[in-house]
Amino acid sequence: MSLIEVRNLKKSYPLGDINLNILKGINVNIENGEFVAIMGPSGSGKSTLLRILGTLDVPDEGTVKIGGADIYGGGTKLSDKQLSEFRRRNIGFVYQDYNLFPEYTAYENIVFPVHLDKRREDKDEVIEIMEKLGIEHCRDKFPFEMSGGEKQRVSLARALVNNPDVILADEPTGNLDAETSSEVAALLRNASDMFGQTIVMVTHDRQMADFADRVLVIKDGVVR
Ligand code: ADP
Ligand code: MG
Repeated sequence: MSLIEVRNLKKSYPLGDINLNILKGINVNIENGEFVAIMGPSGSGKSTLLRILGTLDVPDEGTVKIGGADIYGGGTKLSDKQLSEFRRRNIGFVYQDYNLFPEYTAYENIVFPVHLDKRREDKDEVIEIMEKLGIEHCRDKFPFEMSGGEKQRVSLARALVNNPDVILADEPTGNLDAETSSEVAALLRNASDMFGQTIVMVTHDRQMADFADRVLVIKDGVVR
């Protein structure tokens, strides 16, 4: 069984009087531990697909199974409360603009999802993740005191700390210079190799996509 199974996924958005069909029947399987890049023209629905995989948006049609759980359909459709718990425990997000809390230190940002889940972090484990990502020196720094690359590493650490089944990264290197981008992409590659993380990364950069095991291209609403 694949970790993620997407079948005939469709999504449209209203635009004035018409419906804009963005995803027109996406079929994808992603294996446990696989690092997949998603490419495609701007506006082709890459972020939409990632949001649906991340249970942040609902498809019009089709099924999404993660670890066998049918997220949106059938008899196993999850309630909003179940969905947010599923999301907290199973999915880590990495965004282009890092999404860090400016008033929290790096450490506090990283453990935020653990506390949200009403649990206590394992301090040694958090430090170990920070060391592996090369940001242990940022422990007590606030986001404004860190470089873009450091902030993205903190956001990656935050995504890893709950040991989620899958990490979804939407253009994680979009705000970084070429050298730092390569470093962050290499870290995602390492997370896949070291932690066995399944990673789905949207990027418009061919060099970033080269770090992945497989590249999917979305065009005209389907995977090519
Ligand atoms: P990509 O990430 O590939 O650039 P997106 O998934 O962000 O593309 O968007 C695909 C299309 O869907 C775009 O035309 C965008 O304007 C539209 N769209 C995305 N989200 C919404 C929304 N919440 N409401 C209306 N239209 C949206
Ligand atoms: Mg996008």
